[in-house]
Amino acid sequence: MRIIDHVIAGGAGGTSARTGDVFDPNTGQVQARVNLGTQATLDAAIAAAQAAQPGWAATNPQRRARVMFQFKALVEAHIDELAHLLSSEHGKVIADSKGDIQRGLEVIEFACGIPHVLKGEYTQGAGPGIDVYSMRQPLGIGAGITPFNFPAMIPLWMSGVAIACGNAFLLKPSERDPSVPVRLAELMLEAGLPEGILQVVHGDKEMVDAILDHPAISAVSFVGSSDIAHYVYRRGVDAGKRVQAMGGAKNHGIVMPDADLDQVVNDLSGAAFGSAGERCMALPVVVPVGEKTADALREKLLPAIAALRIGVSTDNDAHYGPVVNAAHQQRVENWIQTGVDEGAELVVDGRGFKLQGHEQGFFIGPSLFDHVTPDMQAYKEEIFGPVLQIVRAPDFETALRLPSEHQYGNGVAIFTRNGHAAREFAARVNVGMVGINVPIPVPVAYHSFGGWKRSAFGDTNQHGMEGVRFWTKVKTITQRWPDGGVGDAANAFVIPTMG
Ligand code: NAD
Repeated sequence: MRIIDHVIAGGAGGTSARTGDVFDPNTGQVQARVNLGTQATLDAAIAAAQAAQPGWAATNPQRRARVMFQFKALVEAHIDELAHLLSSEHGKVIADSKGDIQRGLEVIEFACGIPHVLKGEYTQGAGPGIDVYSMRQPLGIGAGITPFNFPAMIPLWMSGVAIACGNAFLLKPSERDPSVPVRLAELMLEAGLPEGILQVVHGDKEMVDAILDHPAISAVSFVGSSDIAHYVYRRGVDAGKRVQAMGGAKNHGIVMPDADLDQVVNDLSGAAFGSAGERCMALPVVVPVGEKTADALREKLLPAIAALRIGVSTDNDAHYGPVVNAAHQQRVENWIQTGVDEGAELVVDGRGFKLQGHEQGFFIGPSLFDHVTPDMQAYKEEIFGPVLQIVRAPDFETALRLPSEHQYGNGVAIFTRNGHAAREFAARVNVGMVGINVPIPVPVAYHSFGGWKRSAFGDTNQHGMEGVRFWTKVKTITQRWPDGGVGDAANAFVIPTMG
């Protein structure tokens, strides 16, 4: 059985007393075991980070950026290998795995410009003979704790910016699909990153708690489900760290009566069922405005859903593959049952789907619910599977209220030809990322990613300038170079003003 090891100080991390099973979701079989680290694993990584980080921070930013350029070239050269590895542990189809890697690489492209964005501010003559300037300095050692659903993109969101800013970065990837993060760390080393600057420590709650409590770690970036995000946020802040913790989601797509329904159905099929619904920016709730819109949308959705092809992740014609493991498959099917029990109309039932020749794989067919209402638990909670819910709204104001009042506020989309309605919606909706005729509004790397409400704890987004702010601290210097004359001694006892 293949063992997936830590990456500590440029090498492997040795054996672990505990391991976790890594499945191939296509077959349902265990294909590898991942070492689950302990406090001692973390201590070894911290020691290597402490030895390496001051030198890395002192390396001029242009040289740090050159490692990013080199890394980008290496990932591009290995994209097929990485995409296959990713698909084999996650279950998403190869083209989607390439997208996962590409969206991460775009943050690396942003990090290639780090010398420019790290420049500080300067005021000459802020007072008589006084200049004020500020600089952004790295925090020291940062950690990232990441979910299973984007095993390339999310580690790169964090590590690309953190490292380019001059930090050492410890990655604790999801134990469900840990191989791609390891390969990315190996490629960073090959690109010229000094040992100890990017390390991978695998583990579960034990490792997460060790990271949150470790005094040498200054900042923690987390992405995962909301209860754990909130826990990580509280415990990390309590230990005096800077923490950003992104959580779950339940994104709505509002369909106005004037929308192009063929376009909407095409967009919705991908956004609701792509990656088997395992995206924090999926669109699992659609809100048609008016009964006529709802009926027409439902009629067009049915053949589109019937045409979806579910296959193994290497099937180039498949729209989506299996979910990540058996426990998650069961969880999604339980939520479908809850929806039925609560009185929603199950129009298409994806439970019990078997792919011929892969009967043990973790496949779920697409499901469609109609007449879902806001009081239902199946509406309030994140399902994270190939399940689309129709919530009918009588008017624009009701449609606007639904995502605004939902506990999650990650993404939302409006489909309309009416610029005024779109503009009004974008301004008023209580959600962090908005798409206008764009079903999955994941911002490009040089903007920043972050939801609102229970979709994110903390106040700084991922990547872009928000990422730079998160991974650096500002130092402000007020300088005076006296010409040798004696200053006014009486003033020394009064708070200095520039008056
Ligand atoms: P998860 O919360 O189960 O795991 C995330 C990380 O937390 C993993 O590294 C895991 O090892 C660790 N962890 C798990 N249980 C823990 C515990 N009890 N204590 C401490 N750490 C623990 O999430 P997941 O299932 O891997 O990922 C899916 C979730 O992530 C969904 O809720 C999805 O919406 C969310 N997500 C959010 C975003 C975003 O940016 N808002 C992006 C991607 C995924």
